[in-house]
Amino acid sequence: MGFKASVLTLYPDMFPGVLGQALSGKALARGDWSVQAHNPRDYATDRHRSVDDTPSGGGAGMVLRADILAKCLDDVAPVNDERPKLLMSPRGKPLTQAYARELAEGPGAVIVCGRFEGIDERVIEARQLQEVSIGDYILSGGEVAATVLLDSVVRLLPGVMGNKESGETESFETGLLEHPHYTRPAEFEGRTIPDVLTGGNHRLIDEWRLEQSKRITQERRPDLWQAYLEKQK
Ligand code: SAH
Repeated sequence: MGFKASVLTLYPDMFPGVLGQALSGKALARGDWSVQAHNPRDYATDRHRSVDDTPSGGGAGMVLRADILAKCLDDVAPVNDERPKLLMSPRGKPLTQAYARELAEGPGAVIVCGRFEGIDERVIEARQLQEVSIGDYILSGGEVAATVLLDSVVRLLPGVMGNKESGETESFETGLLEHPHYTRPAEFEGRTIPDVLTGGNHRLIDEWRLEQSKRITQERRPDLWQAYLEKQK
């Protein structure tokens, strides 16, 4: 059956988008996962099929209406639908590798993409939407954020990554950033490959890689390094 994604978006043509290519595209074609885009505009009732209105209390921009989003949501995800309902939002819980893994182990996700200033707070409450952020910056809409989230999930689905081991040593999976990689040619613009990697001693290679991971994490992400040290205690 696979992981089932339903995306609520004013721009349904953005899906599967880039996810239709490469690893996620092949998995999509195999049926390891699916994505359906639903347009809230199809649930608008007025002559102009409007989905947004001016913010109560004034101010710039427009807000997506609660009633129209709720109608679309209830159609896409009826009460017995067990998938988590997410809202892409800069105010949300930050997307992490652990969260991607949690989603990948579930039946799928219903994902609401905001536009304009965002969506009416009451539909977030009434449909218990979980807000998820992909980082501390503002995008023009939730579609790219939903694409990022789905990409991180799909590659974790059973059978999608050809080489399971490569998924397990990746940055964040161990709590450390990954070590550097090298491949042929043996020399590039005068730069060689560290001897240990071509020496064939796998214990020494593993040790070297772990040391590099620790060094890079310590240098670049003191926050991750502290968390790693805590975990080792
Ligand atoms: N006025 C809002 C930003 C709206 S941006 C604020 O200041 O918080 C329009 C839409 O883009 C949002 O509703 C959300 O769905 C999406 N979006 C923007 N930045 C995002 C981020 N960092 N992570 C996830 N979704 C984001």
